[in-house]
Amino acid sequence: MQVIFGGTFDPVHSGHLAMLSAVCETFSEALVRVMPNGDPPHRQVNASASQRVEMLRLAMPAHPRVILDTREVGSAGPRYTVDTLAAMRDEYGPDESLVFCLGRDAAAGLLSWGHPERVLDFAHLCIMHRAGHLELPAEVSALWSHTYVSENALCTAPFGRVCELKTPDVPVSSTQVRALVAAGQFPLPVPTVIADYIRDHGLYLDTE
Ligand code: ATP
Repeated sequence: MQVIFGGTFDPVHSGHLAMLSAVCETFSEALVRVMPNGDPPHRQVNASASQRVEMLRLAMPAHPRVILDTREVGSAGPRYTVDTLAAMRDEYGPDESLVFCLGRDAAAGLLSWGHPERVLDFAHLCIMHRAGHLELPAEVSALWSHTYVSENALCTAPFGRVCELKTPDVPVSSTQVRALVAAGQFPLPVPTVIADYIRDHGLYLDTE
């Protein structure tokens, strides 16, 4: 079983780390891949991809089942999640359970992704609670209304199912971290090593 925790991580923060820990605990047999995106097709990033990767390297817990997967970084041109999942399906074969994890805010924005309906042809979706995002828009939940299951059921099929995970409320976002840096307000809700990296590299000082 392979669990993918994708994101921009601009920068990685305590909310990401809490979700990572919840996902590791829930899928206790799985390999968990933290997968930063390259240049996302639908949003601007502030730190470079190599800086975002470096921050993840510094912040991620040393855990035998957690790995940093940089396959999306440096790939030429826009890369959609569905393409990555299709490539992983080819790589790991038809029987491996693949789970793509995302917060409720990201799930709510799924309709703006390239081919959102095809995600379930390759992987399961695990939707994590996120403070301040109570409901999925009806048109998004309608995409999968027949496929909702408990998280345990993701282990017993390779793809095509959706679960909602009751992750802890950690009301932190990268947007908030960038705004705090720009306003000179400390401490930041990130590990000390990341606060140091942000300061040493002069990141986010001119965030609007
Ligand atoms: P930004 O504020 O720049 O939009 P972000 O804080 O949402 O960034 P991302 O790197 O875009 O961070 O998030 C990666 C994934 O982690 C997304 O699926 C997102 O929903 C989820 N996530 C991020 N922060 C939290 C949080 N505090 N609680 C739950 N899920 C989160």
